[in-house]
Formats: sequence, C-alpha cells, structure tokens
Amino acid sequence: MYVSPKLQITAICLLTIVSCQLSQMQEDVSPGGIIHSVNGKIDQQSLGLTLSHEHIMSNFGGEAHYDPNYDQARLFNQVIPYLRKIRSLGIITVFDCTTAYFGRDVRLLKELSDSTGIQIITNTGFYGAAKDRYVPALAFEKSISEIADIWISEFEKGIDNTGIKPGFIKLAFDDGSPSEIDLKLFEAGIVAHIATGLTLAVHTGNNSAAAQKQMDLLEKYNVALNNWIWVHAHKVPDDKILMDAAEKGAWISLDGCKSENIQDYISRLQQFKKNDLLGSILLSHDGNSFPRGKAIRPYHAIPEELIEKLSTQGFKAEEINLMLEQNPWQAFTVIDP
Ligand SMILES: [Zn+2]
Repeated sequence: MYVSPKLQITAICLLTIVSCQLSQMQEDVSPGGIIHSVNGKIDQQSLGLTLSHEHIMSNFGGEAHYDPNYDQARLFNQVIPYLRKIRSLGIITVFDCTTAYFGRDVRLLKELSDSTGIQIITNTGFYGAAKDRYVPALAFEKSISEIADIWISEFEKGIDNTGIKPGFIKLAFDDGSPSEIDLKLFEAGIVAHIATGLTLAVHTGNNSAAAQKQMDLLEKYNVALNNWIWVHAHKVPDDKILMDAAEKGAWISLDGCKSENIQDYISRLQQFKKNDLLGSILLSHDGNSFPRGKAIRPYHAIPEELIEKLSTQGFKAEEINLMLEQNPWQAFTVIDP
C-alpha cells in the first residue's frame, strides 16, 4: 500500500518521540521535512507567520500564455512596497497560487523575495477553473502520466532552468459537474503527488460534488486526505460539509478573508474550535498584489486585524499560531530526500 510522505513523517516523529522518551532526552523533537521556496529549502523554524493562498501577481482575465510578459518596472513598483508592508506586519511566508499559463514567473518571484525578505513558495500544476481557459492545449492531448511527468520534472529539475522547485501542486475545478479535463488534471496531480510528496491544493469552492469526486479518487490511489487542500472552502455555506471532510483528514482553506468579513470569519472559526477542528484550518485572503497590472487586491487583513480580534475573542496564541504557522507547515511539508 502507498504510504504518504506525511504519514511517514508522522511515523518517524512517533518513533523519534518514543526513542527520545526511552533515552530520557530533554530536547524538542523536530518533525523533519522541508518546504521548497523560490530561495531553496525552508525548515520548520524559519516558516513563520504564513499566508497559504495568495497571488503575488497573475494574468487572470488575460490570455493564457506561458510567458506572462509583465511590465517588470511597474510590477516591482507596486509589489515590492506591498510585500514590505506585510513583512512589517509580521508575515514571513506566502504561498503563491498563480500557476503556469496563468501568470507564474518564478524568476520574478525570486527577485521579489530577495528584495523584500518574504519567503515565497511557487507551484506546479495547471489552473482548471475559469472554464479551462488557462489549461494549455497540450493538457488535452497528453495522457495523465505525460502531464504528471511535466510536473514531476519541475520538482526534480526545477522550473524554467532556474533550479527553483515548486512547493505544492495547484489545480482547480470549475463549478458544476466536474469536467473531463479537470478530472484528468486531478488524476495527473495524484500521480505527481505520489512521485514527489507535494500536496495538492485544489480550487474547489462551493462544489461539494467536485470535492467528493476528488476524495474518491484519492482513496482509489490510496492517498491519505491530509495531502489534499479544499481551496476556497469558505464559499461552502454549510460548515457541516467542511467539518466532515476535516474529520477525514482534509485541509480546509478559508482563504477569502478581508476587512469586511472578519467577524464572519471569527464566528466560523469558533464553530471549528468547538468541534476541535482548528488543526485542519488554513487561513488566507486569495489576494493579489498585481492582478494583471490593476490595483492591489489586499492580503493584509489577517495580520492587521484578524489576529488581534481572534485574541480578544477567546482564541489562545497557540490556536492562532496553529492556523497560521503549524497547519501550513503540516499541510505542505515534504521529506527532504
Ligand atoms: Zn487564488
């Protein structure tokens, strides 16, 4: 049976804990594993406060092109001060969810990381939402394993000859009944996950049928649900559906936080807390600091407002840290070979 890298890590941790207890050691036990950023490997100690679903920049609304061809000077003028702002609010790490053909440019991400001190994680995968307009033609022609090979190769050799490795696999489903191409890409994602250990972060939103289909396919491949993130899960009106998935091990990404809905977020999080499920929650804004050159779609409400309001409304520092640091670490970590 396939054993996911996270289960292996858990097993290693348990073994380590047991052996530490046996030998009466006092040191903290490091759970091991790493996350690949655009500047190399990150360990658990250096992850820090993390936003798990943002877009540093994207071409959403434009044509699908592998080379996004950004106006670099304008992009830097807009994005660098913004990343410095969120850094000053305490954010250390940002997961960038813009895929190839949708505006991914890992060289620019690295320059932005170098100039601001923000750790940036990029991705491999294709974006199957927006009626598949950002899915490249090759995905329709190639087989599941040929598509998976493209993503596995990005992990093994790096992206665009930079040596920069993806830190996760980003995929997406449209609304409605899951399309053939979205399912094909998801299955390719599972194959790539099995080869690399990279977690699947899948834009699913309020599409419980697509979520169920994904969970069924993961089960078919014997992949544990803690390798899968239900992205944009905040769009599901019924928390019960999300809690059921969380109880089975899925990560629930409530990634639409903004100033206007902070109180709704806190009420929702109180429900998850009551059910002892804060350990399944990822928080983010789905913001964008350069949406095809337009004005910033902010991603600073969490450090600027949510954290403080959570702590004045009964959330302990450990619980806040769980959602913004420990959970992202657990969700995305892979074994360093
Ligand atoms: Zn997004």
